[in-house]
Amino acid sequence: MATKYLFFTGGVVSSVGKGVTAAATGLLLKERGFKVAVQKLDPYINVDPGTMSPYQHGEVYVLDDGAETDLDLGHYERFIDIRLSRVSNFTTGQVYAETIAKERRGDFLGGTIQVIPHITNEIKHRIALAAKETQAEIMILEVGGTVGDIESQPFLEALRQLRNEVGRENCLFVHVTWLPTIGATGEIKTKPTQHSVAALRSIGISPNVIIARADEDVDRGLCDKIALFCDVEKEAVIPMKTASVLYEVPLLLEELGVGELILKKLDLKATSKPNMTPWKKLVSDVKKDKPTVNVALVGKYVELQDAYMSVREALKHAAIANGVEVEISWVHSADLEKDKGWDIVKKADAVLVPGGFGSRGVEGKILSARFARENKIPYLGLCLGMQVMCIEFARDVLELEDANSSEFDRSSPHPVIDLMIDQRSITDMGGTMRLGLYPCLLQPGTKAANAYSVEQVDERHRHRWEFNNAYREQFEKHGMVFSGLSPDGRLVEIVELKDHPYMVASQFHPEFLSRPMNPHPLFVGLLKAAKEKKVKKK
Ligand code: GLN
Repeated sequence: MATKYLFFTGGVVSSVGKGVTAAATGLLLKERGFKVAVQKLDPYINVDPGTMSPYQHGEVYVLDDGAETDLDLGHYERFIDIRLSRVSNFTTGQVYAETIAKERRGDFLGGTIQVIPHITNEIKHRIALAAKETQAEIMILEVGGTVGDIESQPFLEALRQLRNEVGRENCLFVHVTWLPTIGATGEIKTKPTQHSVAALRSIGISPNVIIARADEDVDRGLCDKIALFCDVEKEAVIPMKTASVLYEVPLLLEELGVGELILKKLDLKATSKPNMTPWKKLVSDVKKDKPTVNVALVGKYVELQDAYMSVREALKHAAIANGVEVEISWVHSADLEKDKGWDIVKKADAVLVPGGFGSRGVEGKILSARFARENKIPYLGLCLGMQVMCIEFARDVLELEDANSSEFDRSSPHPVIDLMIDQRSITDMGGTMRLGLYPCLLQPGTKAANAYSVEQVDERHRHRWEFNNAYREQFEKHGMVFSGLSPDGRLVEIVELKDHPYMVASQFHPEFLSRPMNPHPLFVGLLKAAKEKKVKKK
């Protein structure tokens, strides 16, 4: 079978859920027996999002092979339950870097290097590479940004060319737009959708399917109007109202007939019947009335919750497994330093300190770890969250007053967290951390080992600093347990406290491997402890 291509473009505005729609569509196709792969094409010039501020870009999602990618890849992995690789995401930066390297090598033999054909060829080459590597029957390609942006034009042009090269019958353009509601009259407007389709057509692409997102119910008459003005078949205009529960999106799309529509248009026959029962059960569990557990998430990018996308989703997965509703209180760690926000932390049933970089707000995180330790509040630390737990313990329990990470204080007399040896000579910032999957051996009988119920796990990493082994014995003597180590015993992967209901932290990022149907054990453990503590309090 020839590979089929499903292109997702966005119209009107960004952040209307194009990534989630593409991911949920992937699930519907996988459920019909197809081998699905996904690729995100990002038009920005950074080589990858690894060097971008979370304020600008949201979370950096890390894959098994250490690729630092767009947060939409998290949606793909969570919805479709696949493991993606480096080929699943590329940027304008990568495309130009490669093309310029080829030019310097002399590969173009005196030619003038131009956007068309050289840049578009490189884009198509990367798509072909992903199709080959993944052996996918259906390739889902999502183009970042919104149609009309200058920087996404070479990508759209490449897709236009690709359609002619692989055959129109093997391609489908799905355009995801937004229907705004005008305040005074409550009227839903289709004009912006018409304009964005006009923009798409002006570069030679006519969408085959329009998914019109809206906050309100969209009636059929409005869809027919879009069909007429945008030259799309009536049945191919899908009105998609905002779902109250994220994981309901595949169910809604299925109900709207999107799975069947795509197969029909690509002339494909399903080899299995989609079984949406587990998703229905999941969504009905989420919607049930349940006791609430409150988690204080102490971070430094809390104004933009997308910066903690996978952490938030992992908490939701663990809540479903525990039969509770999770309420996240977003606490700015810098506030805690100014004696603000403590009322929220004090009310919480659990504290979570996620990953982070740089010294701003780090003292607030250390204080929140102290509060959790002293008051026996369940605590989960992720990467930097593990490092601050160790710094706090060193300062207060070991009485090493100036203990710190050398990331924050180069001249600390007690660098209990120190730069990894192989990181010391690195000067480039991009893609040079300890990245991706590494094994971790669990020490039997510990909380971590009990949570996982296996002896060894592989987890995704993104860090430069590590626990300083010169302090291991001292920590152990005072009740810190090193419950996860690298197989050679050299690197501390998980720490926990003996004398505490659940104070566990990992150097890796467990949030990247949590799935709605397969919640991550360390998160499940946190909410279990929080639930038990809440019952005791009553
Ligand atoms: N800044 C810390 C380090 O590089 C923690 C990184 C993280 O939390 N992802 O080791």
